[in-house]
Amino acid sequence: MLPKPILQNFRFTTYRIIFCVSEVFKYKKWAVKSIFIFLLLISTPFLAYNSSNTWGFWAHQRINRLAVFSLPPEMLVFFKKHLDYLTENAVNPDKRRYAVVGEAPRHYIDVEAYGDSAFYKLPLYWNEAVKKFGEDTLALNGTVPWTIQQYKSQLTEAFRQRNPRRILRVAADLGHYIADANVPLHTTRNYNGQLTGQEGIHAFWETRLPELYAEEYDMFLGSAEYEQKTALRAWQAVRQANAALDSVLRFEKNASLQMKPELKYALEDRNGVVIKTYSREFAKKYHQMLDRQVERQMRASVKMVSDFWFTCWVDAGQPDLGPLASFEWDKVEKEQEEKEKQNWFQRLFKVRSENDN
Ligand SMILES: [Zn+2]
Repeated sequence: MLPKPILQNFRFTTYRIIFCVSEVFKYKKWAVKSIFIFLLLISTPFLAYNSSNTWGFWAHQRINRLAVFSLPPEMLVFFKKHLDYLTENAVNPDKRRYAVVGEAPRHYIDVEAYGDSAFYKLPLYWNEAVKKFGEDTLALNGTVPWTIQQYKSQLTEAFRQRNPRRILRVAADLGHYIADANVPLHTTRNYNGQLTGQEGIHAFWETRLPELYAEEYDMFLGSAEYEQKTALRAWQAVRQANAALDSVLRFEKNASLQMKPELKYALEDRNGVVIKTYSREFAKKYHQMLDRQVERQMRASVKMVSDFWFTCWVDAGQPDLGPLASFEWDKVEKEQEEKEKQNWFQRLFKVRSENDN
């Protein structure tokens, strides 16, 4: 039996492939080796259009970056100075997703796991949810709306402590989880269309479409607003994303029926590597059918991130961030952060040490 964290993390093909490769070398018995080789073979065809499993890295970074510009001047003095940090680190939760135990469920919630009227059954707050369903069930089905609430409290506390390191780290992470909650395919077990014969739809919706059409998106958003009911807002985001799920799946099916199968995919060159991806013609058809849905969800993410950052600051008593503006990460801290990221990567590959044979 595989350990539970691995089972929970075992959701996406790219990582299945990495996992299988490492397991093939690990086991001496050929019977066990062949199981992993078989899994590897059946996963490989999906690699090309399954390279990402949440808003693409670009979209996550864009969402955190744009959210900064909606903040009031009292916050901008600090946030704008650290714009690059907030942008680059918008993807940390995805990077550590397969290496840190307990990270994976924070990015999604499988709403249908709770049956009909799930939104009425699911408690607003974590403690009540644990009482009702137990922690194991919640972890298995994803926890994103509660994770947002937890990070909201942490960011408020970081502002109270006027701790610039903590503010930046938690703000970057909170932005990530909020953006995930706004992705329809993060609210279902059918997260990659694998239950409906639509494998690859996840990266199609959140990476391929923004890649082709983001320049047309209107991302001008007004000032951040105070959110009195943050728990409710987190759930509203999930509910709205989940309401859009039907169109995400149905329109892809309809577009597929209207196009010859050989025209649905194309080979494209990415940094010298030829990959199989959805064709531009097919993407255009799907984009038109969705009628700016990706843009709407991306706008909702940016608005919610800036509203939450602002609300945390207000709830902390609007601390003066001016004195923090001169904060710089020192060399040792930067090296430590880099080491931590490398550590996630190594744990992902589970590299064996030389004397571990
Ligand atoms: Zn994520």
